[in-house]
Amino acid sequence: MQEGGAVQTGPDGLNTKDALILGIDFGGTKILSAVADRNGNIFGSDYRKTPADQGPEGVVEEVIRSARATLNTLSLTPSQISAIGVAAPGLVNPDSGIVHTSPNLAGWKDVPVRDMIRERLGPETFLLNDGNAGTLAEATLGAARGVSECVYVALGTGIGGGIVIRGEIYEGSRGWAGEIGHMAIDMDGPLCRCGARGCWEALASGSALERQMKRRLVEDSGRERLSFPEHPGKVSARSIYLAALNGDALAAELIAETGRYLGVGFANLINIFNPEMMVIGGGLSTMGDLLLAPAVEEAKKRAFRRSFHAVRFAPAELGLNSGVLGAALFAWRKQGPRHPR
Ligand SMILES: [Zn+2]
Repeated sequence: MQEGGAVQTGPDGLNTKDALILGIDFGGTKILSAVADRNGNIFGSDYRKTPADQGPEGVVEEVIRSARATLNTLSLTPSQISAIGVAAPGLVNPDSGIVHTSPNLAGWKDVPVRDMIRERLGPETFLLNDGNAGTLAEATLGAARGVSECVYVALGTGIGGGIVIRGEIYEGSRGWAGEIGHMAIDMDGPLCRCGARGCWEALASGSALERQMKRRLVEDSGRERLSFPEHPGKVSARSIYLAALNGDALAAELIAETGRYLGVGFANLINIFNPEMMVIGGGLSTMGDLLLAPAVEEAKKRAFRRSFHAVRFAPAELGLNSGVLGAALFAWRKQGPRHPR
């Protein structure tokens, strides 16, 4: 049996067909599906873009095409999969299998994603929020293995994540807890995709960093200090990061400022949950110390001293696979092992 999340496509790996689960993770920009076992071994996967402009029907259709493509690469039929786990963005009800709303997917309202997928593919299907899926994966197979109290922070276009209390995902009364990206940091701050002002993800995410850079490029266009080479329309978090690495002072300044906003949120989470570990993942976290050193510094200034010193900051270990693996684990747990081995 392989350890960790190693990709494995050899025929020998498929002896456990009856224990295989299809995990699906879809968001506003990408769809990832993978066949995995409960130990996090991935046997085949498919990655494609989300046709977000095609509404719920078009997106779910593409999700099903991705799932079928994954199964085809392994010569599996849906009936050979024991269950399907689906991670979706936004307010998700795991009991009803409905995505109520999603800031990343315009026009989505009360979409019965679980039943739409189950009707088309067949196996029993389970739905959960993508932040909770990533949290479940990191807490079970990743950086927070064996950690009882932790907070997972996924830094990307927005900020996702989740909360683990006594080793279990904290879901709240209806399954909507853990929306850490929408804690208010500045009541008069920039408008968030959720409709409120000054949310953490409106100030400390990749899109917040991009917005700040675009604003500064426009405001400061007549000044000499501009070494940032990009046209404002082409600014991305990655191009800002590369510019900072190349010595661009403005890029470094804005990344550090984004880091300080990040640290304000860290301090709030540390004071509220007194976690043993903060797991930091998502594409933006690959900026490393440029972003995270000012964040930890700010958190240290603001959090209670004892709580701050009790927490370890750890990088996420599962990368892009955390969502699909969490979805698969969720399905495994909900369904229970039908084929104990
Ligand atoms: Zn918000």
